[in-house]
Amino acid sequence: MVMWFVKTKAIQISFLGIYFLLGVFVSGCQRQIVSESPNQVTFPGSITKLSENSSPQHLEWIKIKETVWIHKSFGNFLGKTYESNGLVVLSSRGVVVIDTPWTESQTEELFEGIKTKFQKEILFLIVTHAHDDRMAGVTQFQNRNIPVYSTSLTSKLAKEKGLGKTNPILDLQTRVSAGNVSVEIFFPGHGHSPDNIVVWLPNTHILFGGCLVKAIDATDLGNVKDANLLEWENAVKRVLSRYPDAEVVVPGHGNWGKLDLLRHTIRLLVSTNH
Ligand SMILES: [Zn+2]
Repeated sequence: MVMWFVKTKAIQISFLGIYFLLGVFVSGCQRQIVSESPNQVTFPGSITKLSENSSPQHLEWIKIKETVWIHKSFGNFLGKTYESNGLVVLSSRGVVVIDTPWTESQTEELFEGIKTKFQKEILFLIVTHAHDDRMAGVTQFQNRNIPVYSTSLTSKLAKEKGLGKTNPILDLQTRVSAGNVSVEIFFPGHGHSPDNIVVWLPNTHILFGGCLVKAIDATDLGNVKDANLLEWENAVKRVLSRYPDAEVVVPGHGNWGKLDLLRHTIRLLVSTNH
């Protein structure tokens, strides 16, 4: 009886939260996505205003360190254009890609960019959860015989949603080496989605938070249709205590920063849940 009550209350809170967030998200995101922090180098050009009917956007590259770059793509959600971050990690043997761009055409631009900028092969792709801003280009990776790795939960959800096939090795192998770099994945619990993982680069102390982590100027939690607003806070706290020496934190959308992005995400959750 008590359990039932608690569960019902949680569901009500989630519903209220979703309505609230949807409103804020639709009204608030446009401003947030056009801002650029001064410490970022954007290649080939800086972002201009994104309007509701903007023409297709091109992939952009942001260098974090010599060997780690953000690939920034653009996609549509509820009729508006938003930016999305993935990573390209350079190693002695080739490159590792974390998440695909948001569209197939920008995935082609990613392949082209990796070839011309770095002259390296792609060793494998890791997808951090089963949503199209992470997986829109998966088929193109498979067509090129590039392995696509995920957890088994992401693999199952991706299959159900028709987002493509992934090899679920990341439950067994949470550290994957690629030449002189290694890539660690960590599942902290249900936050933005039931399967969201973060990626830790121990060589460069860069943490890719993906959609579990919000940008510092985010005023809302973004797309929460698969989120667990009550568990999310604990998930972020687990990441914070596991990677206290992260020097750079990259969110799924918006500008990269430091560990305060995790604390900002917790603040957003606390103000939504209370
Ligand atoms: Zn997502």
